[in-house]
Amino acid sequence: MSPIALAIVGVGKIARDQHLPAIAANPDFRLVAAASRSASVEGVRNFTAAGEMLDAMPEIEAVALCMPPQARHTIAADALSRGKHVMLEKPPGATLSEVEHLAGLAAANGASLQATWHSRYAPAVEPARQWLKERRIRSVAVSWKEDVRHWHPGQDWIWEPGGLGVFDPGINALSIVTRILPFPVWLTSAELSFPENRAAPIAADLAFAGPHGEAVEAAFDWRQTGPQTWDIGVETDAGRLVLSSGGARLAIDGEMRSEAAEAEYPGLYVRFAELIHRRESDVDLSPLRHVADAFMLGRRLQVEAFFDDPAAGSAGPR
Ligand code: NAP
Repeated sequence: MSPIALAIVGVGKIARDQHLPAIAANPDFRLVAAASRSASVEGVRNFTAAGEMLDAMPEIEAVALCMPPQARHTIAADALSRGKHVMLEKPPGATLSEVEHLAGLAAANGASLQATWHSRYAPAVEPARQWLKERRIRSVAVSWKEDVRHWHPGQDWIWEPGGLGVFDPGINALSIVTRILPFPVWLTSAELSFPENRAAPIAADLAFAGPHGEAVEAAFDWRQTGPQTWDIGVETDAGRLVLSSGGARLAIDGEMRSEAAEAEYPGLYVRFAELIHRRESDVDLSPLRHVADAFMLGRRLQVEAFFDDPAAGSAGPR
């Protein structure tokens, strides 16, 4: 079977860091084009707009959309309407309804739609899911705390409506939790901390309940300096499971059980090829639904203004 002719849209940080190397290493795909307003990819045809690219190159079979979520729906809808297979970066869109619309378009046009959750492909996630399947779970505690200035410097879109603020990394934790727990959970309360000059939260504390009284708590914070934490702890009748480093490591009662090299994006592209060959879609909206619930149910607190450059704070509001 000849490789799938793939184009990438939105050539920024994640496209360069992860998508381009994962595509280059996967013989099921052949990168033929890129569309980005201000960047280009060497060795392929480059365009400044996705529609222009799809008009000029009807041979493109699939597109990977790597721009921020607020800009994804229009381009995804256009590609799916033309029968192209579409991979969506996480979060899959700015609203639940727009992604449901895309899933309908994919089905109507015989195309595959993949709403990716890269953290689910972290190496210890599947071993954790297997171990938890057999256990009685009592409680879950998520701690996802990182320094926004280090990880998202100058990304204004992330602070805008639809950019999700601290839920941009937090949704990765929710994508793991919804994968490893053998039962659904629902939000019971939330507190969201919004900097007074921003439209998205810088921190969030969430509480969920499970069907048998299980308590799930999650603390997301972007003000963490020093050690960064991307950890999920699960108390069970057979011991304590800790999934750390964003899903890379698994320990049970302090004993390391699984630790492997990171291969999240190669895993996403293996799955994309599989979906295309089977003419199937994979659109699990549960992580995004929990975030939507947090915006709906959460109590809003106003906290200190946030500036990318801490020295700018003293110069007055931006
Ligand atoms: P980014 O570098 O800020 O943006 C990616 C590219 O999208 C930009 O270079 C820009 O390219 C294009 N773009 C930006 N705003 C746009 C708009 N309003 N309309 C159309 N295109 C726009 O962001 P990123 O870090 O790569 O993140 C992109 C997505 O990947 C997000 O959903 C994020 O959650 C996800 N993600 C990021 C990371 C990470 O480590 N950064 C990890 C996993 C997932 P042009 O100006 O050239 O068009």
